[in-house]
Amino acid sequence: MTGQTAPLVLAAPAPLAGRVEWEAVIGAAGERCQCERAHAWHKKGGRCEAVHGTAGVRLLAGPVEPGPDPSRTLISPPPEELRAWCRRCWDHEVRAAARAARKAAREHAHDDMTPLF
Ligand SMILES: [Zn+2]
Ligand SMILES: [Zn+2]
Repeated sequence: MTGQTAPLVLAAPAPLAGRVEWEAVIGAAGERCQCERAHAWHKKGGRCEAVHGTAGVRLLAGPVEPGPDPSRTLISPPPEELRAWCRRCWDHEVRAAARAARKAAREHAHDDMTPLF
């Protein structure tokens, strides 16, 4: 088993869903990121303005709730549960999920931990 110390891979470079699903999801989204979370780069508030093919934006199709480890949790969710994501929003949400998961794990394992100082 290698890769224990490898940096977290946030998302696969290729579309996460299959090609057909990807096209359906991205097409339904109007080729625009569907993230509506409170990200600073959503200039007008509300939905992200990243459009596929502009300024190097490549949208991916991912689940509504990105998990902390997409490579493990992405077992082809049904297309209706997929949304168009730009990498920026996606990575941000994956990182947030990973942070939350680590925090939960830390709190859970608190009694077993060696104090840091
Ligand atoms: Zn976005
Ligand atoms: Zn966003």
